[in-house]
Parts: sequence; C-alpha cells; structure tokens
Amino acid sequence: MSTPQQVKKNKVITLAKHAGFCYGVKRAVETVKKLKQENLNKDVYVLGELIHNALVIQELESLNIKKIESINECPSGICVIRSHGVPPSVYKELEEKGVEIADLTCPDVKKVQKKAIELAQSEYTVIIVGKSEHPEVVAIKANAQEYSDKVYVVSDLENLKQIENQIESKKIGVVVQTTQRISVLQEIVNYLLPLVAELKIFNTICASTTLRQEDAQKLAKESDLMVVVGSKNSANTTHLAEILKDLAATIHIESDEELNNYRELIEKAQNIGVTAGASTPDYLINKVLNKLNQY
Ligand code: SF4
Repeated sequence: MSTPQQVKKNKVITLAKHAGFCYGVKRAVETVKKLKQENLNKDVYVLGELIHNALVIQELESLNIKKIESINECPSGICVIRSHGVPPSVYKELEEKGVEIADLTCPDVKKVQKKAIELAQSEYTVIIVGKSEHPEVVAIKANAQEYSDKVYVVSDLENLKQIENQIESKKIGVVVQTTQRISVLQEIVNYLLPLVAELKIFNTICASTTLRQEDAQKLAKESDLMVVVGSKNSANTTHLAEILKDLAATIHIESDEELNNYRELIEKAQNIGVTAGASTPDYLINKVLNKLNQY
C-alpha cells in the first residue's frame, strides 16, 4: 500500500501508513488460496468467515473454498482454522473425524492463549478483557478453562463491576483480546490494582493493532474528517472508529458507495484522513481513495 498523499484542489486526502490487511490476515488469505491450488482434488473448508469481509469471502467461494458454520458440515478433506483460533475441543473433534487440519491461528492469538493457560495453571483467576461472543475470546477462554474454572471475560469496567462479587480471588491474571483498545485495559487494571494482593497483567494487544491505532490517532489530530474502511462486524475496525470519534469527525464505511451518504461532510472537509481495519483489502481502500478524489 503506497498512496501516502493525494492532493486535489484544496483538499488533502491522506492514507494512514498502517491501514488494511495485517500480517495475520494476509497470511491466512494467501495460505488458504495456495492450499486450494495444491489440493484441487480435495474439499477445502473454512470454519467460520476467514476474515470479516464479504468481498473476500465471495472471492474464496469462487475458488471453491467453502465457508462452514460447524464441523458437521465438513465430512472429509481439509478444514482451515482461521486467525481467531478455536477451542481445543474443535481440534479433537476434527481429528476424530479424520479431517486434515490447516491451522492458521495468528501467532499473536496463540500467544494470548498460551498466557491465559499459564495463568490458569499457576492458579490465578483469569480475566480476559474482550467481547465474550468474539471467536478469538471464545477460544482463549476455552483454552484456559482446560486448566481452571475461574476464567471470566469482561468487556469493560462497567461489566467488571457487575460480576465483581463472583470473583473472590486475590490472585488475578489479566490478558486482553488482540484488537482491544488500550484505554479499556488501563481502566480495568487501575480498578483492580487496589483490590487484589497479586495482579499479573499481560498486554496482549497485537503490535499490528497498536500501530494501526496510534497511526490513525496521529492522522485524526491533523484531519477534520476521518474515514474508516472495513466491515461493521470486524472488532478491530469498529474499535478504530470508536477511538477516532473522540479526535475528529469520523465515518465508518464498508464500501466506496457509502461515501454518497456523507457528501456534505466530505465536501466541507479540507483534510481527510483514511484508515482501514485489518480485514480490509487494498483494492477496497483504493476504491475509497479514488472516489474521495472525485469530490
Ligand atoms: Fe494477528 Fe493482530 Fe492481525 Fe489479529 S489483528 S490476525 S492478532 S496480527
């Protein structure tokens, strides 16, 4: 991605340096395509959406790489585990069925799972900061629960306060979903600090997310409008938009066509910053840049 700055009349449109596919997503998409090419005679399934982007999912389907919702839909062939990871029970079931596993869990997600397991094994009550229904968090929790039943997920400080009386332990270990906002982790840690005798914190927000958020925040301070490109059901993209809203007028769009809904805002803005989530392909970002340049 190399479109640092494009100028038209008085309008300056700047693309953030760290926008679009992260290495974990790039690796997953490239590996799945290669896997299918090398195994044309086998069925290749992906358990869940490989990435949160409808266009990429369509492209994979056109290559006969099938998205499935449950293991039952995968009778044989190769089953791809996406970058979010899965609970240990899923590996076990696939092995029992004799299905080949292509494990594309992002190495950064594996690190969180490992830290959560270590905490559980050392008899810490484990707190996972993240969205309880997010597949990455579901998998981290299930991994820790193999070793302890004292594993909790909290989405934010309010949520922690609601379940606080269930957590009696004075020995707490904290890990965090890779795409979370650092401010959420900070609030939770500050709250726990005076309450527990022993507090172990692993900041497991991945480097790609940190760089993307820092870079976009810097750009937002110099812009009067920020455009965030990416799926509305992508955790890292929605977090990005939430962070930027505090710094500049921000619009979150899934496609270039959606820009039409914000015509007035775009025409008024002089400095427009553009960023994108980890699951947004380059061609979509370029379409948005091209359309913005037409204003
Ligand atoms: Fe890996 Fe981070 Fe990308 Fe998630 S956002 S796939 S943890 S690099």
